[in-house]
Amino acid sequence: MSEKRLSWEEYCADVLQWQNDELDLNDRIINAGLGIADEAGEVAGAVKKRFFYKVPPYRSEFDFREKLVDEMGDTLWYFALMCECIGSNLEEVMRYNMEKLRRRHSGGT
Ligand SMILES: [Mg+2]
Repeated sequence: MSEKRLSWEEYCADVLQWQNDELDLNDRIINAGLGIADEAGEVAGAVKKRFFYKVPPYRSEFDFREKLVDEMGDTLWYFALMCECIGSNLEEVMRYNMEKLRRRHSGGT
């Protein structure tokens, strides 16, 4: 699955057309926040099943990886929705996080 590079803006323009446009801003924020937690939980569930089930539901490591990519994508969708709701984007979040980590690991918090 390697096509031409995909920008954050292209991704959002494509996938956010599927959001529920009957929701007002507050409900979209609630939907995004709960959706991020829900889908991140599905990532955790996949990991739990892979490492703790006596009989994991994945036929191969490829299937397990595909499940992770699928659930991370679902999480990304809600992340994109939240970004749109609060007027942010992937680059702002990445830069904010990088600066926070840099401060934390250079003695600050
Ligand atoms: Mg999912």
